[in-house]
Amino acid sequence: MDNVSSCLRNNDYINAIAAVCHVNAVFGGENRIEFNTTKYHQLTNATLMKVCYHCKNETSSQDVRIRHLMLPFIESVLYKNKFRDCWDCPKCKKLNYLDVTDFVQETFTTPRYLGVVPEPPKIQYGIVGRKDFEMQARNWIRLALDEISFSLGVERREYVPVSDRDEMIDDDDND
Ligand SMILES: [Zn+2]
Repeated sequence: MDNVSSCLRNNDYINAIAAVCHVNAVFGGENRIEFNTTKYHQLTNATLMKVCYHCKNETSSQDVRIRHLMLPFIESVLYKNKFRDCWDCPKCKKLNYLDVTDFVQETFTTPRYLGVVPEPPKIQYGIVGRKDFEMQARNWIRLALDEISFSLGVERREYVPVSDRDEMIDDDDND
């Protein structure tokens, strides 16, 4: 972590990104955060809430299943499609059409950790490219460090000193 801050102080974003990757690589399996742009966008999209037209309740997009409703002839002509996507509100059980559904972003009272951040930005050449890169790098580093410090907390809680582990084994033997 010291290495990350010293690189940032020198505006050395390339090495700051490398240092963040290095800190992350030291982690064990499940606590290591993943650099995956597609997965990150999928996870953050999943926090979109669908608003029911009838009861106005909000439902997480993950909790609703989209159905393809076959339309009566007149409507199918009107929509130029035999089917219309719809979903059932889990609260009032009424049918909503996806194309007219309102979405709201789910708000979290506490920070939420995903274990995934986008892939680190790549250096672009030219003055404008460089400025964009620096901004992207600062944003990415902030995001990655948030995730990493959360992961560090998890790692510390899960860590059982070797001496304690021996005691636990002894207890089992006594049973
Ligand atoms: Zn409803």
